[in-house]
Amino acid sequence: MTAIRIAGLNRRFGPAFAVEGLDLEIAAGEFLTLLGPSGSGKTTTLRMLAGLERPDSGTIQVGGRVMNGPGVFVPPHKRNMGMVFQSYAVWPHRTVYQNVAFPLRVQRVSRADEKARVGRILDLVELPASDFADRYASQLSGGQQQRVSLARALVADPDVILYDEPLSNLDARLRDAMRTLLRDIHGRIRTTALYVTHDQTEAMVLSDRVCIMQAGRIVQQGTPRALYDNPSNMFVTEFIGGANALPIVEQDRARQQVGIAGGVRIHVANWNAGSASRLVIRHHHVQLLPADATACNAIDATVRDAVFLGDRVRFTLQADCGLTLIADAVASPGLPMPGSRIRAVLPAALCIII
Ligand code: ATP
Repeated sequence: MTAIRIAGLNRRFGPAFAVEGLDLEIAAGEFLTLLGPSGSGKTTTLRMLAGLERPDSGTIQVGGRVMNGPGVFVPPHKRNMGMVFQSYAVWPHRTVYQNVAFPLRVQRVSRADEKARVGRILDLVELPASDFADRYASQLSGGQQQRVSLARALVADPDVILYDEPLSNLDARLRDAMRTLLRDIHGRIRTTALYVTHDQTEAMVLSDRVCIMQAGRIVQQGTPRALYDNPSNMFVTEFIGGANALPIVEQDRARQQVGIAGGVRIHVANWNAGSASRLVIRHHHVQLLPADATACNAIDATVRDAVFLGDRVRFTLQADCGLTLIADAVASPGLPMPGSRIRAVLPAALCIII
């Protein structure tokens, strides 16, 4: 298994930085995702790691070998990396076998070895050779073509596998199935992986670690859980999960309390941020109690809207202090109806200060 070390990576197009001062280490066998909006520099970073784009400056080392550095540039075909793209990039008029075997032909692997390896990898991506090897790629569905391209990326046993939005062209159900397959495959082969996406669910399902990118830089990195529980700014909060973000008008750090609109004071258990500008609480962490309940951190409110989403109900709450809150509750009998008076509780341990 191969570790990756990227330091001080820069790439400009014209005056604008696509990637700026990027430092990133990926441990051997780790699945790391770059997550960010369009134009944040994810693909440019991946292409520089692949050798398809040259950095203006910075170094890239893979398994201790310098790929990019002062006076060094290793071309893509000598980096031993597999790539899977959004466009499946399979040859439509060649068979599944021919598509997948291609990297082994380049390496002049013996035919017997080639056949065994293609067979094994087709099993891994759930396209058994007995059914699929002789079919033309053009006869396959989009999801199957993407599995062919995954098999081709893995067949030569690369040191690193790079994924550039590989599931974006698939419909929602197929995406779900492919996510599970990718996760399963990574669990079995543990090839160091860099994955690029703007889809937070994909990032959370697949990754050991996620780096959130904004304007060419990594703004926060951590396990999906750590990013969800402790986003360091509003950009990360919105990108991972969504949440209520209530402006803070006063702060009393000694008492661990913040004041929000209408003189309402909220006690917070974990105050890690330096100064406080927003009180953030995830939608499903807001608890709904009857109007006469006694509780800490309770805000009086009226239910303005309740939308049934299958597994849960999304409430829009108009608080008496003037704020609007969103609360998600597990769908069950007895939930409040629009127009009801309720108390919305923001549990102290689940409040995030930003
Ligand atoms: P997307 O999800 O849309 O692919 P991204 O996060 O992968 O976005 P990049 O494709 O890396 O972002 O692009 C980062 C910035 O660099 C963007 O502003 C983009 O317009 C610019 N850029 C990328 N490639 C080129 C190029 N070949 N020529 C000029 N500008 C480029």
